[in-house]
Amino acid sequence: MGKEPGLFDSALAQTLAYIHYLRESGEEFAPAAPKSEIPPAPGDDWTRLKNSVLGCVRCSELARTRKSVVFGSGNAKAKLMFIGEAPGFDEDQQGLPFVGKAGQLLTKIIEAMGLARQDVFIANVLKCRPPGNRNPLPEEIMNCKPYLLAQIGLIRPRVICALGNFAAQVLLQTDRTISQLRGKFYEFEGIKILPTYHPAYLLRNPADKKKVWEDMKLIMKELEA
Ligand code: SF4
Repeated sequence: MGKEPGLFDSALAQTLAYIHYLRESGEEFAPAAPKSEIPPAPGDDWTRLKNSVLGCVRCSELARTRKSVVFGSGNAKAKLMFIGEAPGFDEDQQGLPFVGKAGQLLTKIIEAMGLARQDVFIANVLKCRPPGNRNPLPEEIMNCKPYLLAQIGLIRPRVICALGNFAAQVLLQTDRTISQLRGKFYEFEGIKILPTYHPAYLLRNPADKKKVWEDMKLIMKELEA
């Protein structure tokens, strides 16, 4: 951390290297499909990535305590991605991101933008719930970030909305707070990132919903351009 936003020169390379790793690996990850002259279908890397994430035990405590791995949900060809911090209790129970109270608020925000959850892709930095909803540990973020980068690399959305401090700081490699970061776009390998408040924060601070709506209007304008 500590780097200014926008400096992501190696991120796409990391993503591509990771996808290559997934393709080549036959031990920790799902076995590679039989080699064929026929080019793989567009969804193959996605399926392989999903299988890898669903079987992941890199964070021993999280792998032991989770009920589900929450890969993410929505449209794998979405123009807009929402990325939060980590699954909570409800998400862990259901295996889906943003399905608790904060998730219901996110759904309302998405619908107010004229979209549906199926139009966007929703994910978290961590795919497994930290016990008691504690903050993710640095090593857990390091373990799981390649999966997120691989998701971004395969979806290639036009815009990413980073929800809350963790997502914004991990994606933008900065220690600046969400209050300092929100309200404008940052560039990441041709993808625009807009940080805004996490819906869970909005449940505690409803007065800031207005600021989030201002941010969503920026995203809508960008998607229309
Ligand atoms: S949080 Fe990510 S890296 Fe850690 S066990 Fe879950 S899927 Fe694997």
